[in-house]
Amino acid sequence: MNNPFENALSQLKRATALTSFDEKFLKRIGHPNRQIRVSIPVEMDDGRLNMFEGYRVQFNNARGPYKGGIRFHQDTDIEEVKALAFWMALKCAVVNIPMGGGKGGVTVNPKELSKGELERLSRGWMRAMADVVGPQKDVPAPDVNTTPQIMQWMSDEFGKITGDTSGAVITGKPLEAGGSEGRGTATAQGGFYVFEALRKRLGLPETCTVAIQGFGNAGQFAAKLWHEAGHKVVAVSDSQSAIRNSAGIDILALIEHKRSTRSVADFAGAETFTSDDVLYEPCDLLIPAALENQIHEGNADRIQAKAILELANGPITPEADDILHAKGTPVVPDILANAGGVTVSTFEWEQNLKGEHWGEEAVFERLKQIMEREAVLIADRAKELNTDLRRAAFVVALERIQEAMK
Ligand code: NAD
Repeated sequence: MNNPFENALSQLKRATALTSFDEKFLKRIGHPNRQIRVSIPVEMDDGRLNMFEGYRVQFNNARGPYKGGIRFHQDTDIEEVKALAFWMALKCAVVNIPMGGGKGGVTVNPKELSKGELERLSRGWMRAMADVVGPQKDVPAPDVNTTPQIMQWMSDEFGKITGDTSGAVITGKPLEAGGSEGRGTATAQGGFYVFEALRKRLGLPETCTVAIQGFGNAGQFAAKLWHEAGHKVVAVSDSQSAIRNSAGIDILALIEHKRSTRSVADFAGAETFTSDDVLYEPCDLLIPAALENQIHEGNADRIQAKAILELANGPITPEADDILHAKGTPVVPDILANAGGVTVSTFEWEQNLKGEHWGEEAVFERLKQIMEREAVLIADRAKELNTDLRRAAFVVALERIQEAMK
């Protein structure tokens, strides 16, 4: 398995070879400002005490407070969090929002916890981190397996400890707890705006067939958006299985099926097959929306999609990038394609700081403007540098961070 942080550094090296950067800047940008590891005691329902390991990596704050989600996953470790924090710094610079990059996590399988245990763990993470986060310091958000409810518990805990009840310490909260309209769907929505802005340049038809890996927050809303826009979602997977139907899947019915059975398997009118094989479906657009390292040296040549849009963070390894590039399969990189989430998160932070509440239409209008503008700018830069979209996005982001660090 590739180390995600090594992948990130390898991407950095490839991009910075294209144009000149200050040497001292290049040395600094490969290292996080701060890495925090904490032990979180949680009393389990049966009275036992369990210890969990929690993390926060504050990568770079030259452009604003650190910003990035918190992941609860059994495989999460400091290396993964470090890579995700680095990508967040670049991502915020790609969409030009006044935020730096950070990321957090806990090594835990939250599906094995009761609701009470999950709440105590979430509050425990915030208690351990209350000194290092804050509206002007570091503003976390949801990521894999963390929900608006978890954000609300953490926000509440921060308020109890510090007296700051503005909610601006964390984003992705439920609406009634200071959340923003549109935050739930923002990642997929941002990806969709980027897709629309670049569709012709990616060589894709007006109506596309789409395969999606992962059916959580990002994947589910992506399925819904592409489906509602008239594209045909022909295959979808979650961690256990995949389903396919070349005539198109009824996404609203599938969302209901997933809600009631907690799986996409055995959905009526579709064929169930092995989860990982969703990557190899013949389609116009493949959307990885699960975890890192899914497309690697060993399977990249089996991809049949005409283009890939990364809603997940780091789903393609640098070696796979080369194989896809040689095959002529364009990749819209994570730091552009999934930046809608952090953009609307920043809108939420801004609303909390100002005590405002914006309507959904205003949120999406601003999001659309930002995503379209930066997507076109990066595609133009890729053309100018005669390179792929990932390297171009890195160059644009690094130039902006370098400027701020000066
Ligand atoms: P989530 O927990 O809501 O969903 C993850 C989904 O992936 C689940 O359906 C799970 O079953 C599935 N999954 C896990 N392993 C899989 C596998 N091997 N094959 C197929 N499916 C698998 O998480 P999410 O918030 O949707 O995040 C998904 C990805 O998108 C992550 O890489 C995350 O960092 C990225 N992302 C999310 C946001 C956001 O706002 N939620 C923003 C930017 C990036």
